[in-house]
Amino acid sequence: MTLSFHDPILVLTSDPQVNTLVETMLRPEGFDVKVVTLIADAKKTLNEGFPRLAIIGEKLPDGSGLTFARELSDITPTTPVILFTYQESTTMLKQAIQAGVMDTFTLPIRGDDFLKLVRNGLAIADRRRGWMQKETRLATANLRSQMSDLETLSRLSQSITSKLDLDSVLSTVMDTAVSLTNAEESSLLLVDETTGELYLRASRNFREDTGNVDFRMGIGDTLAGTVIRTGQPVLVDEDNLKKIKTDYLVYSLIYVPLKTHDRIVGVLGVDNRNLKKPFNDYHVRLLSAVADFAAIAIENAQVFSNTDNERARLETILTKVQDGVIILDAENKVIFVNQGAREALSLNGTEPASDSDISNLQMDQIMDLLDRGSSRAEINLNEGRVMDAQVTPISNVGTVITLHDISMFKELDRAKSDFVNTVSHDLRTPLTTILGYVELVERVGPVTDLQREYIRHVQMSVHNISNLVNDLLNLGRIEAGFDKHKEIVHIDHLIGESCETLKDQLAYKGHRLSVDIPPNMPPVWGNPILLAQVVDNLLGNSIKYTPPGGQIFIKAEIEGNQMILQFKDTGVGIPPMDLPFIFDKFFRASNAAGEASGTGLGLAIVKSIVETHYGRIWVDSVLSQGSTFNVVLPLYEETKSSPTTGE
Ligand code: ADP
Repeated sequence: MTLSFHDPILVLTSDPQVNTLVETMLRPEGFDVKVVTLIADAKKTLNEGFPRLAIIGEKLPDGSGLTFARELSDITPTTPVILFTYQESTTMLKQAIQAGVMDTFTLPIRGDDFLKLVRNGLAIADRRRGWMQKETRLATANLRSQMSDLETLSRLSQSITSKLDLDSVLSTVMDTAVSLTNAEESSLLLVDETTGELYLRASRNFREDTGNVDFRMGIGDTLAGTVIRTGQPVLVDEDNLKKIKTDYLVYSLIYVPLKTHDRIVGVLGVDNRNLKKPFNDYHVRLLSAVADFAAIAIENAQVFSNTDNERARLETILTKVQDGVIILDAENKVIFVNQGAREALSLNGTEPASDSDISNLQMDQIMDLLDRGSSRAEINLNEGRVMDAQVTPISNVGTVITLHDISMFKELDRAKSDFVNTVSHDLRTPLTTILGYVELVERVGPVTDLQREYIRHVQMSVHNISNLVNDLLNLGRIEAGFDKHKEIVHIDHLIGESCETLKDQLAYKGHRLSVDIPPNMPPVWGNPILLAQVVDNLLGNSIKYTPPGGQIFIKAEIEGNQMILQFKDTGVGIPPMDLPFIFDKFFRASNAAGEASGTGLGLAIVKSIVETHYGRIWVDSVLSQGSTFNVVLPLYEETKSSPTTGE
């Protein structure tokens, strides 16, 4: 409800004399008068507006005038009340003062006195209203300025969340600090972690006359230092300026601490040097809010820069590392190809666009690897280069393919195999000759028992050497991939044949053999001679490395599209320290010496064969208790032609 200096005068009496007086005195004077005789009617008029002045009778037909006067002063304190009474007793006057009544009058009434009374009341009313309007204007202006400050702060917070560039955020911080506090200058000083000094990180109008580049200050006994140490803001004005040491002359100044978590990393300051304008506590509060935003911005920038540095570091490592690295996302789109991979795949020049499909790399062998779901494979590249490709699925990223150049090892391995093959081959003929002649010795004349024993030794040794030569030649052939022929192979048949072949050895050692093969075993796709050798070697070893009277189990199972074979024995077992080398060429476990002779090539051959059939082999063994050799082979799938039908 707005108040106006033209609001009416409310007259509430039931006395005809007063009413007549009002009519004859006030109306001709131009006063707007509203005359009512009941409190209820007077209340109704309040809905339309508050009266400028109220003349109220002490006694009214519907209640006490004093009580209404009290109510009225609660509703509209700017409306003075003049009380009309028939008898002015001290008690009544006291009550009137307590009810906030301005003045009283009684009968008889003189016109002049009444007019003076009303004029006086109106003057008081106008003073009260004038004061109230001034106060309201002031409060509104204050509210407006605080709202504008809040808007400025909210803009600052938006700029902090929307920008990552610290310089630009701090520039906004400086502008905001100056505009919110109406300061001449603002500065943001951060603590240098290494020297402990404060250095200027951002400023507005700060020391522009002296140049503020490289501005630094100690935190010893300076004002900013005190803020850093105590974590409390300081407000300096004319009164306490002389007592405090600032390192340059200012008229007024505020420093507030910049806190990140529980550490104080710097101070935000505003000051007036030329203008003699003081700051107040409100400015301190505003500047503290700005400092909080600045601290968040600095922390954000630090986190971002740390992450960014870390990312850049990782990218440099990945880029510079000699091995090839290809990173694909979950849909096999290329995310990253490093220099090593570019060189290996001769991609330089034909840059694969980031986000392009892996098929664009034109690397059939890598595609093949991914299609087959293999975790590693050797990839043959141009000019005889061979890469060991490893595929690692990484959750939330996709797939990482690393390419390691193993051409040199392959070359060495080939040279060694060539050498071994040549030597083995060349040894075969003289060995056969030796055996032939040794056998002839007994036939050409009588030999003593001792000579016969020596001949047996020679025969056994030559036999061992020819076993070794045969194993070496076998291994050479498998590694060179000569036996590429593949067909449908029923492993259960091979197991049956192997048990038949080795039944004499089983019987000789008194082992019990149990074979557990489900009926209608599906076949695998492979080379029957090589797979037979796997079964022979594993069963042969079980017999050989199990002391007489042991037990041997052969078990076959189907799991998904794989066949799992187990050769389990109750033999000598393999010492844990030997387990990692058990499939290496020429390796014999430390506890094998006392057992039957061997070349240390059998398991290497088995492993080679299993791998050329895309299978896996591993061993579980407990020393002195027994070993289980596990072989997993993919089943033959009619619908899918085998990846290596290379007959
Ligand atoms: P070889 O039997 O000719 O020594 P292998 O390559 O077949 O060579 O085996 C390598 C080594 O693995 C053996 O010398 C032996 O120490 C160990 N080994 C193989 N099979 C068994 C088994 N079933 N139980 C215990 N040790 C075994």
